[in-house]
Amino acid sequence: MKAVITGGAGFIGSHLSDHLVAQGHEVIVLDDLSTGSLSNLSQLQNSPAFHFVQGDILDRELVDELVAEADTVFHLAAAVGVYNIVDKPLQSLRTNLHGTETVVEAAVRHRVPYMVASTSEVYGKNDANGLKENDDRIYGSPIKSRWSYAAAKGLDELVAHVYGKESGVPCVITRFFNVVGPRQTGQYGMVVPRFVDQALDDAPITVYGTGTQRRCFGSVFDVVPTLTRLLETPEAYNQAVNLGGHEEVSIKGLADRVVELTGSRSEITYMDYEQAYGEGYEDMQRRYPDTSLAARLIGYEPTRDLNTIIDSIVEHRRSTEVLPQPA
Ligand code: UDP
Repeated sequence: MKAVITGGAGFIGSHLSDHLVAQGHEVIVLDDLSTGSLSNLSQLQNSPAFHFVQGDILDRELVDELVAEADTVFHLAAAVGVYNIVDKPLQSLRTNLHGTETVVEAAVRHRVPYMVASTSEVYGKNDANGLKENDDRIYGSPIKSRWSYAAAKGLDELVAHVYGKESGVPCVITRFFNVVGPRQTGQYGMVVPRFVDQALDDAPITVYGTGTQRRCFGSVFDVVPTLTRLLETPEAYNQAVNLGGHEEVSIKGLADRVVELTGSRSEITYMDYEQAYGEGYEDMQRRYPDTSLAARLIGYEPTRDLNTIIDSIVEHRRSTEVLPQPA
């Protein structure tokens, strides 16, 4: 199989590239390196099955040319991270809306099965216990840039779904719930790499808000192998499928855990949301996935607990980097 992975130099995309090449497939990564990095792909650079193309998903001709030759498309390119969305709302919106439309249109034109990455952000402020794929979305005003990511990703799902349904081309939408692991950067806001970097530097760990908000972190190593399996499963076509972990933790609890597992001397400090993200920011208090659809479709069952996930990130940070100074 020849797979095109948009956003393949990013965190999840680079792990998917590793996985597909290890399975004997050919991989073509399309990435503009805006948030992704070639260092995420250095392990593949000598593999004859791996090709990297630097380019933008808004470049229709380039996308068309690459997709025309592919057997599958994994669309992971997106503007991600709360800092990115809040700082560059227009650019993020263009990438997330028109970029997805461009990739999906090319996939449908060439009748290439496609996967579109979405996010638990689409549920917005719905904090139900065990969010199911058909649950309602609860958002703030569309003119608050904070909601633009959720709104754009919701439309991406609609585009993917409607094009898939009308064309009959296999399509799967995957909703990632706080997927974490080695190579994820904290630069754009993601909490786990930020806490790990701060802990390894013995710098203050910055908990935003009260720290009682809860998340359920999923391992990239549990999630990535499911992506090809979903695209091979006709019952999954035109569905949105939740993917994530099952161990829920408060953000203060996460900070404690990171301190304990790294043996850090860091203190835990608190910061207002306004100070962290700017005026008018609203956080989700809870986001817990119901992954029974993925379990039914492909037997998905996350196997890595939070300690194992944190350990893998710490090990990766220790082995690869000169630690950044905290902001
Ligand atoms: N967070 C935090 N400190 C940080 C970065 C994030 O306390 O340095 C909080 C953030 O406010 C949120 C949670 O951690 O409540 C998860 O944030 P992330 O951006 O990783 O994911 P999301 O908000 O999309 O679930």
